[in-house]
Amino acid sequence: MALIVKKFGGSSVGSVEKIMAVAKRIIDEKKAEDKVVMVVSAMGDTTDDLIALAKGINKDPYQYSREMDMLLTTGEQVSISLLTMAFKTLGHKAVSLTGPLAGMKTNSVHTKGKLVDIKPKRVHEELDKGNIVVVAGFQGCDELGDPVTLGRGGSDTSAVALAGALKADSCEIFTDVDGVYSADPRIVKDARKMKEITYYEMLEMARLGAGVMQPRSVEMGKYFNIPIHVRSTFTTKTGTMIREEYTMEEKDFVIRGVAHDEKVAKIAVLGVPNNPGIAYSIFSALAEANVDVDMIVQSIRNIEKNVTDMVFTVASSDLSQTKKIVDRVADQLQAIAVLVEEDVAKVSIVGAGMLGNPGIAARMFGALSKAAVNIEVISTSEISISCLIKGAQLKEAVNSIHAEFFPQK
Ligand code: ADP
Ligand code: ASP
Ligand code: MG
Repeated sequence: MALIVKKFGGSSVGSVEKIMAVAKRIIDEKKAEDKVVMVVSAMGDTTDDLIALAKGINKDPYQYSREMDMLLTTGEQVSISLLTMAFKTLGHKAVSLTGPLAGMKTNSVHTKGKLVDIKPKRVHEELDKGNIVVVAGFQGCDELGDPVTLGRGGSDTSAVALAGALKADSCEIFTDVDGVYSADPRIVKDARKMKEITYYEMLEMARLGAGVMQPRSVEMGKYFNIPIHVRSTFTTKTGTMIREEYTMEEKDFVIRGVAHDEKVAKIAVLGVPNNPGIAYSIFSALAEANVDVDMIVQSIRNIEKNVTDMVFTVASSDLSQTKKIVDRVADQLQAIAVLVEEDVAKVSIVGAGMLGNPGIAARMFGALSKAAVNIEVISTSEISISCLIKGAQLKEAVNSIHAEFFPQK
């Protein structure tokens, strides 16, 4: 007997026909003694459509973050009920459970919640009754029982965390691509599919924008040491295994992949005093509001006047909140101006192999220069290099960098 967790993303359950096809596939592949837990996302673009509805009421609906969660959690509830009805229609026992019913406990940070505990007692009980258990991804509840969502793409995290808590034998993420590629295959036509990738490198790819997996889900995989199989909903081909160590592929590649993120915004606070405590006053105010700040550059504008410019990036979804906070702090600091640029994007290379391998950054900058792309901000981590560029040049930038590190054979 095996306990298997299978997650199906929005495009995999985008219509009733697709939901029916998923149910048939699960039943065809299920051995009689297998226990199956499904985690599903909202149908197709439902989450985007719900956000658009909220924006019809207020252009900044995330200020009402609890109500956003009340709204967004409905998307996944539609798909769990329909998928469960599909199993029943096909003559199989199944039951749907919301995140809270499945025991997914979160903190109270609405729209960006983190799982703090999982008590899947009800899931076990329903499995023991012979049900296929269909759980709503992306959601849990806090101490008050209020609904909390886990950030965009959060169903991946629900699935991997639940697989860990249930001590599942396997965790499969079914999606609209057949694995993890060396770059987003929608942007780079000759991107290469990986047979496997480590948690370490996948986490960095995901953090830097490779939307195929939510970063937290990879952290969960590492925490529970559960291998994650990313594969296609529409074929039976083997996909990519995300695991602790490489087992079969050559390990001596320098760069594992190119990631990009269009959903970023650049903020420049111009002419703040160049004194101790200035960075603290800006970034502590943002931290208090749970805004994640990414690239940060401080440059000297005018040595004589001892003022400086502070430039940083945030996720586009945090921009309106960030602007309000930064305007307030900039006023207190008597800054000259706060400028916002939305037409920016971040392109990154990722690979544990760059450690102790000089010249990688120069090759990346060379590829950008070849594509006539100007670099606005650079940041690095142990296993990645990121450049902020104009959003309009993203496609050329990603393709040029990919061609440099993954030349066609
Ligand atoms: P789901 O709805 O199944 O959760 P997502 O849209 O969240 O699917 O994730 C799948 C998408 O991730 C793919 O369609 C692809 O465009 C994108 N993607 C970005 N980077 C990569 C990558 N390196 N490898 C594979 N897919 C990627
Ligand atoms: N439906 C949610 C979203 O679109 C969660 C998910 O798909 O993983 O972000
Ligand atoms: Mg997703």
